[in-house]
Amino acid sequence: MANMKNFFILILLPFFNFFFVPVSGQSDSAFYYSEKILLPDLKSDLAFLASPRLEGRGTPGTGLEMAGDFIKEKFQGAGLKPFFRDYKQIFYQEMDTLLPVLEIGRHKYSFGKDYYTSFPKTRNKISSNNIVFANANGKDWPGTLKDLRNKILVLLPGLTNGDDSSEQKVSAGIIRAHQLGARAVLLPSCQFFAGKDKKEIDQLKDQFDNPDINSIGLPVICVSRAVILNLVGKNNFDSLMQTFEKSNLIRFAGIAISFRLKYRKAKVLKPVFNVAGFIPGKDTSRYLVIGAHYDHLGRMGDRIYYGADDNASGTATLIQLARVFSEANRNGHIPQMNVLFVAFTAEEKGLAGSDYFVSKFSSKNRIEAMINMDMIGRSDNNHRSAKDYVFVIGRDYNPGFWMSTLTDVENELPGFYADYSINAENDPELLMQRSDQYPFFQQEIPVLFFFDDMKKDYHLPSDTVEKINWDLLKKRAQFIFLTAYKISHKEVR
Ligand SMILES: [Zn+2]
Repeated sequence: MANMKNFFILILLPFFNFFFVPVSGQSDSAFYYSEKILLPDLKSDLAFLASPRLEGRGTPGTGLEMAGDFIKEKFQGAGLKPFFRDYKQIFYQEMDTLLPVLEIGRHKYSFGKDYYTSFPKTRNKISSNNIVFANANGKDWPGTLKDLRNKILVLLPGLTNGDDSSEQKVSAGIIRAHQLGARAVLLPSCQFFAGKDKKEIDQLKDQFDNPDINSIGLPVICVSRAVILNLVGKNNFDSLMQTFEKSNLIRFAGIAISFRLKYRKAKVLKPVFNVAGFIPGKDTSRYLVIGAHYDHLGRMGDRIYYGADDNASGTATLIQLARVFSEANRNGHIPQMNVLFVAFTAEEKGLAGSDYFVSKFSSKNRIEAMINMDMIGRSDNNHRSAKDYVFVIGRDYNPGFWMSTLTDVENELPGFYADYSINAENDPELLMQRSDQYPFFQQEIPVLFFFDDMKKDYHLPSDTVEKINWDLLKKRAQFIFLTAYKISHKEVR
């Protein structure tokens, strides 16, 4: 049985609640909305981002693009306004690549216009001084071509559009050429892709994705009609094609000409994008930026770097914060400043996304503060006893800005431990410089970086979903939400 004093409080409590809880006061609404972060949504969003389908979200790549589109849809669904057209801030990342170089005789051909090849980049080069021709439709193929060693074979008529039987013949011809020792096969293509769009080129690439052909590793080069014309001359080309139409045999001698295919190192620009949406505040010239990077390391061979903690955890949390902030806003809790949610790309490429974002931010507007989340789903080895913790980095660079808010939040979440022990400017790990808060920090914007310091699976394929501590992630999400909410609802100083 409860003692008298407690009994008294129990009776009065409902009345106190009724009379004294301000329904729209910011601190109470902050806590109320912080509890609306949904664990099932955190789980499913994180699991999707770190799934094999997204192939480790490497920059650039289709997995990364899918992740970006997913976040965009979540922002849109939450009711955020697009900060860029279609929420996407597109920019170009310079990437190292290997580009094939094809030279036949005195002609140099350009990849994607004159030819296409799936020639494995691991091979150095192919060269030959002899090019011969065969008819892929010929029953007795290769006829007189009993030995193709050191030779390049042109297989006529080449690839024809949507004709399965011709594709089968071409495949059989390529395999036969390999058995006879050919160095490479040239396929003239009647649906060659000069001037075609990306989708059509992708379809053409699919034709090269023939497991029978890929497994033999014989370079197959799809060339334009112009390449064959240059090779044999106009008159010879016509008679070649006439012979081809009439009979199985091609009476055309081989051509002694130098042939070289190799790769050279090159730089290419690939488009990538940040995703950003916002909630307009009372003062639309000031911003609180809440960010998390959504890229990771991608895949190397068949090893996928899932990046569940780094940083699907921060990205899934960003989506939840956007949703809950938006709900509070719809219920009349308008923030003092715009609250801008940014999912950064290419963080693992030297903070490229956040760097670009900061460099393009209009000087007419002002970023009041930036809150970054990067790796917030797991524990380090030093917090086994105080398990509900998060590292908060940045407070001590701007104590006047952060201190009272963080103290408030700590008081609202007793038992949750905000660890400021890696805050120092001279920290040997230079954590301040190692994630997306840094470009903001360099602009002297107050920043906070939330972080778990997980080391065990850091940047390894073993950073996987099942190792996420969901309850801890949710508590951290609440802590971060409360901090962001209080900052963005604070009256102008
Ligand atoms: Zn990382």
